[in-house]
Amino acid sequence: MRPHRAFSPVIQEQVELFGPEAKHLLEVLRARPGDKLTLFDGKGTEATAIIEAVASGHLRLKVVEKRQASREPPVPVELYVALLKGDKLSEVVRAATELGVSKIILIITVHSVAKEMGESKLQRLRRVAVEAAKQSERSLVPLVAGPIPISEVPGVKQGLVAHPGTSRLVQEILPPGSPVSLATGPEGGFSDAEVLLLEAKGFTRVSLGPRILRAETAAISLVSLVTAGAGV
Ligand code: SAH
Repeated sequence: MRPHRAFSPVIQEQVELFGPEAKHLLEVLRARPGDKLTLFDGKGTEATAIIEAVASGHLRLKVVEKRQASREPPVPVELYVALLKGDKLSEVVRAATELGVSKIILIITVHSVAKEMGESKLQRLRRVAVEAAKQSERSLVPLVAGPIPISEVPGVKQGLVAHPGTSRLVQEILPPGSPVSLATGPEGGFSDAEVLLLEAKGFTRVSLGPRILRAETAAISLVSLVTAGAGV
């Protein structure tokens, strides 16, 4: 069996784990002294560590080997995704993390039903990103940022905005040679003005096929075409 993975923002010779990370290892995975773990810091470093001691809610580890891990796409892929109803963004964050995005930026659009997001919900999404990074053996945990009004999306080098009724396909524009930014809309879609705004910032409209996808399916499909579809 592969060693369990644990997240530690700092990886030194000795690492202490507390909080939910320690609780999960001890109570769910039944980690014990002598067990081997893989640590990752979310910034590209991985390490093999041995559990030296455990106490209630606390583990002490000894790092035996440290390395740079690379399971990241060769260019950063970021996703601008509109605020969605209920807990659908968790699904998007989980899948987009598995698929290799480095940043997820939530955007507020005219047709978004939700117009804001509380700090606790944002924290939950960040936790989903950590869990998904761990599960998919990524070395980097994507940043989850925002929400920002769509007007504050910065100019991008290369961008794709998914918009129904477009004829160009993602495959006609990729593979990307430079960082790529992706954008998908809310349940009600982007307004025409919003698509024009994104085009002015460097995004090109793309189609995800002749069917209208749910907002969360669209976000996941677009990321998947760019990373999994290119094998990166
Ligand atoms: N009610 C809207 C559809 C919104 S779908 C309308 O009829 O226009 C939600 C989001 O998913 C859209 O803003 C878009 O970014 C994306 N999307 C869904 N299906 C798509 C498709 N076939 N092609 C491109 N983008 C799509």
